Amino acid sequence: MEFLNDIKLCTGCGACANICPHDAVIMQEDEKGFLKPFVDTTRCTECGLCKKVCPLLNFQSDNFESPQAFAFINQNNEVRMRSSSGGVFPAFAKYIIEKGGAVFGAVYDSSLKVCHDAAYDLKDIEKMQGSKYVQSDTKYTFRAVKNALTTGKPVLYTGSPCQIAGLKSYLGKEWENLLTIDLICHGVSSRRVFEMYKKEILKKIKDNGRLTGLNMRDKNFGWGYGFFVTITTTNASYHLHKTEDDFQQLYLHNLSINDSCLQCKFNKIPRTADITMGDFWGVEDYDSSLNDKKGISAVLLNSAKGQKYFKELISTDQIYSEEVPAEVIIRNNITIISSSIPHPRREEFFKDVVASKKRLSQLCEKYLKLRPNILKRIFRKLPPKLQRIIKRVLLK
Ligand SMILES: Cc1cc2nc3c(=O)[nH]c(=O)nc-3n(C[C@H](O)[C@H](O)[C@H](O)COP(=O)(O)OP(=O)(O)OC[C@H]3O[C@@H](n4cnc5c(N)ncnc54)[C@H](O)[C@@H]3O)c2cc1C
Repeated sequence: MEFLNDIKLCTGCGACANICPHDAVIMQEDEKGFLKPFVDTTRCTECGLCKKVCPLLNFQSDNFESPQAFAFINQNNEVRMRSSSGGVFPAFAKYIIEKGGAVFGAVYDSSLKVCHDAAYDLKDIEKMQGSKYVQSDTKYTFRAVKNALTTGKPVLYTGSPCQIAGLKSYLGKEWENLLTIDLICHGVSSRRVFEMYKKEILKKIKDNGRLTGLNMRDKNFGWGYGFFVTITTTNASYHLHKTEDDFQQLYLHNLSINDSCLQCKFNKIPRTADITMGDFWGVEDYDSSLNDKKGISAVLLNSAKGQKYFKELISTDQIYSEEVPAEVIIRNNITIISSSIPHPRREEFFKDVVASKKRLSQLCEKYLKLRPNILKRIFRKLPPKLQRIIKRVLLK
């Protein structure tokens, strides 16, 4: 196997693996733990399709230069609480499923690895809800999308902007029955770092069971910058504030994210998908009455198709939406138009990951000076009244 290495800043979207007629391109993790295309030279006929389809080399979005922006709340409380923001995704997913369509999104598989999958009924949508801040393996979902589209079914595909660019590049033309939604994307974390985390977390929470679930943004403790992670095992559930969770700390400090995320070609306007969804950060300064702390989304309508689907959705479902100036959304979520800035010691961090001599907790100690457990110790020494005030501010 040879690494298809002349495509710099490969995002691992999988378009090349999906298009190869000989299944000669195989997505595998590189040493840092990011999916990259490798070529089985015994199968490759050098037809060049893998390069032609690469969105880094060939994708241009013709979406709007000035998208309309909305605040969005899915008013089905139970559904919204399972989602990371205001429940935009499950609202569109329900709409497509009820029309007999197929929905594609990111799930945890049986080994809690993150990958894309298809859903054809409402129950399967639940697995796609919730942000998983890890690079998702799109597998052969682009091929499955094409099959579904050719039968005339409505299809919804959700993913990072680079995955949507990969899908569109693979399809090669617009399909009226395809709706795409991209995420406002801070970047994706290494799959290898995520595996290290899964191995260590049970020890940290002192549980001798098996890891069965992970909610990276549990809104039962409120929606905001100071979120909680819920770890579920065969024995119990545990809630860690993001500052106590090694995986979140490494991700949020831009240590564990992909090289391509640091020079993202797709975090810009025009966006890659018909619709963009993310958190409506800064909503409290815009209109605090909108923030009930259960999650509020920001939506950008990037194409006429996106506008059409949005109009249909809000006329038929339990949705609250309100148009807001796009600048308000972008100002508080700058990754809509730019890449994340790397941690100054990111390269060194990955050298340590590759050497695999240190545990994740030791890497946190080494690279993030202000360790959460130090903060925790200081916090516990504070008077209870002050502790309560700090908690209230963090949970805002
Ligand atoms: C890696 C990542 C980075 C993000 N960065 C930001 C950010 O900087 N600012 C911001 O405002 N919002 C960001 N988001 C988006 C935000 O967290 C919510 O996912 C989004 O607002 C949708 O929320 P929801 O309530 O509508 O849907 P939910 O019901 O929570 O649905 C989650 C949606 O995200 C998709 N998804 C989940 N994990 C992945 C993954 N690993 N790869 C591809 N798709 C995935 C699912 O397919 C589904 O469509 C990010 C999400 C992810 C996954």
